[in-house]
Amino acid sequence: MTDETFRLETRAWLAENCPPEMREPLRSEKDICWGGRSYVPSSPAQKDWLERMAARGWTVPDWPKAYGGGGLSPAETKILREEMAAINARNPLNSFGISMLGPALLKYGTEEQKLDHLTKIAKGQIRWCQGYSEPNAGSDLASLATSAEDMGDHYRVNGQKVWTSYADQADWIFCLVRTDKAVKQGGISFVLFDMASEGVSTRPILLISGNSPFCETFFDDVKVPKAGRVHDENKGWDVAKYLLGHEREMISGMGLGGSGGNPLIDGAIATVGLDRDGRLADPLLRASIALFEVRARAFGAMSERFIDELKAGRAHPAQPSMMKYYGTELNKTRHELMMSAGGSDALEWDSERSHGGAHARSWLRTKANSIEGGTSEIQLNIIAKRILDLPS
Ligand SMILES: Cc1cc2nc3c(=O)[nH]c(=O)nc-3n(C[C@H](O)[C@H](O)[C@H](O)COP(=O)(O)OP(=O)(O)OC[C@H]3O[C@@H](n4cnc5c(N)ncnc54)[C@H](O)[C@@H]3O)c2cc1C
Repeated sequence: MTDETFRLETRAWLAENCPPEMREPLRSEKDICWGGRSYVPSSPAQKDWLERMAARGWTVPDWPKAYGGGGLSPAETKILREEMAAINARNPLNSFGISMLGPALLKYGTEEQKLDHLTKIAKGQIRWCQGYSEPNAGSDLASLATSAEDMGDHYRVNGQKVWTSYADQADWIFCLVRTDKAVKQGGISFVLFDMASEGVSTRPILLISGNSPFCETFFDDVKVPKAGRVHDENKGWDVAKYLLGHEREMISGMGLGGSGGNPLIDGAIATVGLDRDGRLADPLLRASIALFEVRARAFGAMSERFIDELKAGRAHPAQPSMMKYYGTELNKTRHELMMSAGGSDALEWDSERSHGGAHARSWLRTKANSIEGGTSEIQLNIIAKRILDLPS
């Protein structure tokens, strides 16, 4: 099939199968579909959209069909994304399984692990969380101390993770554990286990935005079968770094602003209005938004090229750090400008007309963008060392 035929067929299929409600901008966290064992659809349309896309393998269009994917080529995947964007279609499934664990399993997993876990991720049946950070291991992640003691056919895991996003709602965890105390990076293994295992507990942490998807996660004598280890024992650091590249790429996508029109420009027009020439009436805000839009479009072009290179295995290992740094800076600026455009009204926190302070809460949430997935300082260190070749 030519790319043009694929585009026309995809357009027709989306027109017929993407429910109108799934073309509306996201209004709250409830509108995001995370899947998982305890998933309760927020509407019949959300359920239909997930099921229809999963049935075609289009929740993970470029994964092989054998693992629940769509088996699409890079060009077809891009066409699908463009056609979805053209009708403002929502992402049918948001998942750390798709954006983080999946790519790592495709590279390092056994055939059995791929067939089991990837298929469930593609259908949204299992929701994953990430057990990397610990109270004394954040930027210096390789200092992690959660121990996995060899018990023959399984590991006995003890320790604590922190900032584990959605740990209290996740079904399974991908987790870094220490299998050798004598060496730092070379003593880490990457394991997968069920959050319902005996000895796992979670405690939510409150954030400045008022929402609390973040948890402390505790492991007390958790029995983890060795079949859940990805890659060799003590080789988990390779998997961890590879996954982090994909996480950083995913986070950088925030710089692109998501689907559903341009809330910055629409919001600015709604609050300050247009002058006689049809331009935004506030010249200072207009200049700031124009500069921002130029940067955002340049980032969009760069990111498209970087993602192609990443998928083709031709990317420089530090490219995700460049994307993560710049994409998160853009997202923070976008929200600062939205707050400027909204004036004091934008600070409303609880009112009905502000949808419970949606703008203000999103703005505060963006402050964490330059911390999650590795801080901006760490990304700049990587760029300085690996790309600019500066001394440590
Ligand atoms: C919203 C959010 C979601 C998260 N979700 C998860 C999750 O699901 N799973 C998970 O495992 N973790 C998660 N994290 C944790 C995140 O990965 C860590 O917060 C991050 O890696 C930084 O570690 P830290 O908080 O310990 O800060 P620290 O490492 O203590 O850093 C403190 C400050 O020192 C600076 N710093 C540290 N070392 C250097 C250096 N060498 N050079 C220059 N500056 C330095 C940092 O940039 C930072 O400003 C999340 C964090 C946030 C904010």
